[in-house]
Amino acid sequence: MTSSTSWPCAALSSADLSARTTLKVGGWAEWLLEPATPEELVLAWCAALEAGGPVRLLGGGANLIVDDGELPGVVVSTARLRRSFRMGDRTVGDDPFQIDVPPEKTRDQDDGEPRLVGWAGASMPGLVRAAGELGWSGLEGLVGVPGSLGGGVRMNAGGRWGDMWDVVETVRCLLPSGDLEDLARADATPSYRDGGLGERVVVGAVLRLERDSKPAVRERMKQYLTEKRAAQPVTEASCGCIFKNPDPETTGGKTAGVLVEEAGGKGLARGNAMVSELHGNFIVNRGGATAADVLTLIEDVRDRVAEKTGVRLEREVEVWRGGGK
Ligand SMILES: Cc1cc2nc3c(=O)[nH]c(=O)nc-3n(C[C@H](O)[C@H](O)[C@H](O)COP(=O)(O)OP(=O)(O)OC[C@H]3O[C@@H](n4cnc5c(N)ncnc54)[C@H](O)[C@@H]3O)c2cc1C
Repeated sequence: MTSSTSWPCAALSSADLSARTTLKVGGWAEWLLEPATPEELVLAWCAALEAGGPVRLLGGGANLIVDDGELPGVVVSTARLRRSFRMGDRTVGDDPFQIDVPPEKTRDQDDGEPRLVGWAGASMPGLVRAAGELGWSGLEGLVGVPGSLGGGVRMNAGGRWGDMWDVVETVRCLLPSGDLEDLARADATPSYRDGGLGERVVVGAVLRLERDSKPAVRERMKQYLTEKRAAQPVTEASCGCIFKNPDPETTGGKTAGVLVEEAGGKGLARGNAMVSELHGNFIVNRGGATAADVLTLIEDVRDRVAEKTGVRLEREVEVWRGGGK
């Protein structure tokens, strides 16, 4: 494609990606597509595949390192697919993703169960906040996790207080064939930081929560957030945890952050990328860091930990290289 009007949705050429990630490094996409509805997402994804080059999906960019320079091909962003709503609120028929119908046609769809429906680009912090305001429990463990619903489902985001897939009831997926599939929780195989979705694109998801009291839900959120803020550099530019926690049996229960700290990795810097002094598993951009700085630092830290402990840490954060995924 050579013109932005040839795409089935809003499109930008040579679009800056660093500003679209939380780490704020990296170059630009040859094409960035910004569908605004689930239907446009399907059309955009299929058109991008037909174009023949590399195709990537961008959520909130909170778990991503984008390479310096041009990223050839197409990046499809879910940034404009931000809608979320209560099941039955504005949905119709058997399709929870069909919204914007007159309220009188939707009332009998609400079976009283506490469910939230979100499109792929719905903000995770926004969903957590909405659940808290409703007094619905299940998303508290994701407080302080930036990014989108689609990215959270794909990564099975979470931590010691719970994971995304604990509350997923159904995920609407776009298959590489261009067909849609509603994947039920019972048929999915999520694991640690992996939703197990393979090549599927998350179009939206239904989250099943539990009724609780608003003060109880809010109190848990407050407590988890306080603990998170004390332990992680949440106000600095980062991409969350760099490495997965290794099998506790091989490390005596030590997390990746502790292994990095014990290997003397905290404070290690390459250019303007530095291992956080607060948390050994975070790399922060002190301003003007490049992807090359960050990627070199990751390898240096990995080597240090391997030398010291014999454990080769596995990357959690995704890297988009100029040459393809
Ligand atoms: C300060 C900070 C704290 C964090 N804390 C946590 C934490 O406690 N626990 C945790 O698990 N993570 C944490 N993270 C990492 C990050 O927030 C999560 O991994 C988040 O779920 C990523 O979502 P995203 O939308 O930003 O995904 P992106 O970074 O945009 O993408 C990540 C991957 O998901 C794919 N993807 C994105 N959207 C979709 C979609 N709709 N369908 C299919 N694939 C898709 C992308 O192609 C990419 O491969 C933290 C990050 C930061 C910066």
